[in-house]
Amino acid sequence: MKITLAQAMGTCFGVQDAIDMALDPAFKDRLTIVGQLVHNPQTTERLKANGVRIVERDQVDQITTEAVMITAHGASDGTKQMLRDKGFTVYDATCPLVIRLHKLARFLEREGYFPVVIGEASHVEVRGVVGNLRSAVVVHDEADIDQLQGHRRIGVVSQTTNRPEMVQRLLAAIRAKPWVEDMRFCDTICQPVKERQQAIEVLLGQDIDLGIVIGGRNSANTRKLQELIADRGIEVHHIEDPEHLEDAWFVGKKHVGITAGTSTPQDVIEAVHARVRAIIAAQPAA
Ligand code: SF4
Repeated sequence: MKITLAQAMGTCFGVQDAIDMALDPAFKDRLTIVGQLVHNPQTTERLKANGVRIVERDQVDQITTEAVMITAHGASDGTKQMLRDKGFTVYDATCPLVIRLHKLARFLEREGYFPVVIGEASHVEVRGVVGNLRSAVVVHDEADIDQLQGHRRIGVVSQTTNRPEMVQRLLAAIRAKPWVEDMRFCDTICQPVKERQQAIEVLLGQDIDLGIVIGGRNSANTRKLQELIADRGIEVHHIEDPEHLEDAWFVGKKHVGITAGTSTPQDVIEAVHARVRAIIAAQPAA
């Protein structure tokens, strides 16, 4: 059985920079991260082992350090100010591509467009963007578009991890509404995410018959990599670490493709790759 690793996968620069900031020795035992810095259990454990505390956004009252960190997904200015007002020193690990998303959403609003964010309303990145706008609608599927009734000039941005074809489908549906006179779209899907999605297309072009996608269960971009493979009717499994691999998945398969989301560390990818090799080696010859 052949194994192919995706040409682009694993930790992106935004996540890596945020991890490096949190693991700076100057912060040892004196930093609290508000929310998950990355959607990856191994990295979260590594941070805790280095004395970094992690609280959810509704647990701010439990923070006991003076230094707090905003995650790579960003936050609204209101959230950052609320933390400063409580006396914390705020260190901002927001990814530059998320900052760009915030800026473009505000630019569209300033230009007189009604802002629309294509994405998941509950996702921390989307909540941060919406929190910086006077008013906005989050569109995740066609049914959400009816909330735009009466808005003739629509300015659209996308959550950074969306699939381009999903965004294009929703843009066409918005444009088709009779009340929409002018629609402007700023493409804010991030380049590392696009590269990881394009690498899946390359894998699919090589006739894989099994996909292994590595990443946190709550990682939006990892789930989308899995969807890309599943949409072609190919068996695919989303795992967080090598222990989740099951020997039975590999029986009778010819070509396995491996990929990983933007917050999956290289050592986890290597451990999964090694375990896949071991499972295949232990199978009886066909
Ligand atoms: S996935 Fe893209 S937007 Fe998100 S942290 Fe990585 S580089 Fe930044």
